[in-house]
Formats: sequence, structure tokens, C-alpha cells
Amino acid sequence: MKYDYHIIVIGAGSAGLTIASGAAGLGANVALLENHKMGGDCLNYGCVPSKTFLRSAHLAKDISRAAEFALDANLNIPDLKAVMQRVKKVIAEIEPHDSRERYESLGVKVFMGESSLIDNHTVKTGDKTITGKKIVIATGSKARIPELPGLNEVSYLTNKTIFDLEKLPSHLMIIGGGPIGLELGQGFRHLGSRVTIIDRNEHLFPKDDPEVWDVMKKVLQDDGVELLLQSKVNAVSQKDKEITIEIKTSKGIEFISGDALLVSSGRIPDTEGLGLANIGIKTDKRGYIITDRSMRTSTKNIFAAGDVTGPFQFTHMAGYQGGKVVPNALMNLRQKANYNIVPWTTYTKPEVAHVGYTEPWAKKLGIFKESIISQLNENDRAKSQNDRAGFLKLILGKKGKIIGATLVSEKAGEMIPLATMAITKGMKASAFASLIFSYPTEAEIFQRLSFNYLKRSLKPWMKNLIKSLFL
Ligand SMILES: Cc1cc2nc3c(=O)[nH]c(=O)nc-3n(C[C@H](O)[C@H](O)[C@H](O)COP(=O)(O)OP(=O)(O)OC[C@H]3O[C@@H](n4cnc5c(N)ncnc54)[C@H](O)[C@@H]3O)c2cc1C
Repeated sequence: MKYDYHIIVIGAGSAGLTIASGAAGLGANVALLENHKMGGDCLNYGCVPSKTFLRSAHLAKDISRAAEFALDANLNIPDLKAVMQRVKKVIAEIEPHDSRERYESLGVKVFMGESSLIDNHTVKTGDKTITGKKIVIATGSKARIPELPGLNEVSYLTNKTIFDLEKLPSHLMIIGGGPIGLELGQGFRHLGSRVTIIDRNEHLFPKDDPEVWDVMKKVLQDDGVELLLQSKVNAVSQKDKEITIEIKTSKGIEFISGDALLVSSGRIPDTEGLGLANIGIKTDKRGYIITDRSMRTSTKNIFAAGDVTGPFQFTHMAGYQGGKVVPNALMNLRQKANYNIVPWTTYTKPEVAHVGYTEPWAKKLGIFKESIISQLNENDRAKSQNDRAGFLKLILGKKGKIIGATLVSEKAGEMIPLATMAITKGMKASAFASLIFSYPTEAEIFQRLSFNYLKRSLKPWMKNLIKSLFL
């Protein structure tokens, strides 16, 4: 049978764009279908706007710390409209890279419109019907809106609307203390809003190593972020501009009111109207598309990549999975995704970065030997910057090789690739001892940890031998 396209990609976000450009680069005839904005969540409502916003927010925090550095400066009430205009400017600067024009110049045929699967080779996109030998679903995820009494009658914000705010909220209430709620919550606090984060978990950062929990709780509380943990929202209501939340906390029922509410209580797959059931594509109980490690769905010629597949909802994971789809779909290869060395960073101040296994995860799998930690407050650069909250923790596997790392520091996201490299190359905890690091840098914490590990590993008989031979 002859198809219109070698491959049809539904969704032009991080995953879909990677696949479309990769497939076109190999000479395939590619259709890319998008129903909203090219670039998907990352460019329009995720990574790019949030990190641009956080630059202003974290600078505001630094200005408020001027006296710590023997300077005199005052932060006027920020003009949020101007901050958000800068956010839009940065999106516009990056946009051409993901644009329809660029993709068409790469030889990809772009269709703008709602798309759904008719059968396993046919897709309806807008008012057209096209066929493809292979199809990829890369439709991403969206904010999960909990079923709460009154929520539908309240003008709440999500990651899709918060960057359109023009006035700084005086009290921003946030349902959900995951990465989105924490990054934005701390950011708005730095700009001067009162911020309350409500989360049902006992700890923030539950997916990170436990040492992160208290360090970051203290940082956020010192910033003035109000945390209601182990708390459940019962109901929400609004009178004029005032929104009130009824919360069941460990102390009983509490009511808080504010002028803005952000709902950031997790994500759900964006598969509504796609017609997955029409062709029997299997999903898990939360609706995420089930794939094997080669990103193939339960329907042989259909692949899926990115947030719509569930775990590790990051742009770099969408790109990584997309990179597996291209050869597997076009050349019938079986390149498998490996989820053992995945890095992630939460862009709070300080940043929390992780790669590989956490200690609880490694213990659960029975591959844990030991972990070692070095505190950032022993690092000279951290002292000179007075940014002392943080640590580096390495997780070692049974053979003493590094299998995971967690780093909390100002630029943890920039430094975690050192650990990614060490894990990928099968290095041991002593790996950083023989490297030369620039002084003073926070990255020296890797070397300090190696030295501490080596010192700790020296057995008494070794020390005695050195003493008797050389000292
Ligand atoms: C506030 C926020 C901050 C974030 N920050 C980071 C960060 O700093 N680093 C990081 O790595 N990740 C971050 N993420 C996550 C990141 O944005 C996602 O992991 C990434 O965008 C996933 O890419 P994707 O291609 O799977 O999906 P998306 O980017 O969501 O793209 C899917 C596309 O499919 C389109 N689509 C959906 N249904 C259809 C249909 N039926 N027909 C046609 N088109 C359709 C959508 O319009 C969308 O454009 C953040 C997310 C949020 C919300």
C-alpha cells in the first residue's frame, strides 16, 4: 500500500519537533500536525517562560539581599506586566527555531489543526485526511485540574495562564508543591507576593533524595513561603476578586484567602479526542500511552514519545525519546531508551539537581552500597557568595561505582553533568580527586567529596604502612 507520508507526527512540542527534523534529515517524507502553537509547552507555557520569569524573580531576591554584601539597594514594587513582557520577548526570540516556516524549510509538511486517529495508518487533521506508514503520538500533557467543589466557578491560573498576569498578586495560593508550584511560588515570593503552597505530601521534593527535603523546606520558609504540608484542599470559592480555600490540615480545618490561585497539582496526558480507543492503543490507569523501550505502542506501526508516555516529563526526555523513535520507526531498528541515568533540575534558588538513582530507589532495587555527602558550607566559593545552603551526595552501587548524584547549589543544573559523565563512564567516587578544578568554584565540591571518600577508605593498616615506609 502507498501512503501519503513515511511518518506522521502528531504534536509539535519538544518530542514531535525532534522526530520531524530527524526524520526529514534522513530523507523521509514527514507530516507534522499541531493544533495550537509550534514549540508546545516548553516554548510557550513551560521551560522558557518559567526560566525567563525566574531570572527577574531571583534578581529581585538578590537585590533584597544587598545589605548582606555591604551595599544599599531597594526593590520597588515590581511591574509584573513589564516582567511578563520580557518573558514574551524571549519566547518570540526562540520561536523562529520551532516555527512552521523553519520546519517547512527542512522539508517537513506542517498541518495546523486538531488531529485524530481514524485507523492505524490514517489521521484526520483539520478538514483533511492523510495516511502514513508510521505514526507518532507526541501530544504532551496538560495541567491536571482536581475535582474540587467550587473550583470551576473560580478564576484559577495554570501554567498556561500565569504568564499573562499583569499585576503582582498580593497573596498567591498554590495547590500542588511539585516543581512547577515550587519554582513559581518561590519566584512570586521573591518579587514580593505573599505565597502559600498547599500539598498533601509530608515532604516537598518527594522524588529527590531525602536530604533535599529539610534543606529546601528551610530555604523556602526563610524566604517567607508559607507551606501547608500534609494538607488537603476541601473546597474553593470566590467573592468578587477574593478567592477562599478550605483546607484540611494536620491541625484541623483552615481557611485562607487570596487574590490569585495557581493549580499545579500534577499533569495528565493530552490525548482527549485523539481516538486512541478506536485503534486499541493501550494506556495505563492514568491514561498515559504505554510503550516498550523502543517507544513502540501496542499498535505496531504507532510510536509515542514525550510527556504523553508518562514518566520523566522533561524536555530533554522528550528529545531523548524522540531520538529513539527516528531510527526505530524509519529503519525498523530496536534502539532502546535507558532510564537509569536521567538528569533533572528544579530551578528553585538554590537549584536542586539529580541524575541516576536516588538512595531510596537504589535500595529498593537492591543495588545500593553506600552514599557519601559533602556540605556546600565547607566550600570557599559558597562562603564568598554567602550561598551556603546545599550539598553534593553521591550514591554508590555494589561495585563502588557512582550510580546516582544529588546536588543542591546555586548552579546545580549546570554542574550535574559532571556526575552524569561519571555515571555513564562507570567511574568510582574517587574519580574527581585527580582532576584540576578552578579555584574557587562550587564545582570543587566534587573533588572535596572524592578526597573525603579516599581518606575514609584508607584502612588503619594502610596508614601504618605509609607511616613506617615514608614518615
Ligand atoms: C511550567 C513548566 C515548566 C517546565 N520547565 C521545564 C524545565 O525547566 N525543563 C524541562 O526539561 N522541562 C520542563 N517542563 C516540562 C516540559 O515542558 C515538557 O516535558 C515538554 O514540553 C514535553 O514535550 P512534549 O513534546 O512531550 O509535549 P508538548 O511540548 O506539550 O507538545 C505537545 C504538542 O502537541 C499538541 N497537540 C496536543 N493534542 C493534539 C492534537 N490532537 N492534534 C494536534 N496537536 C496536538 C499540543 O498543542 C502541543 O503543542 C516544564 C513544564 C511546565 C508546565
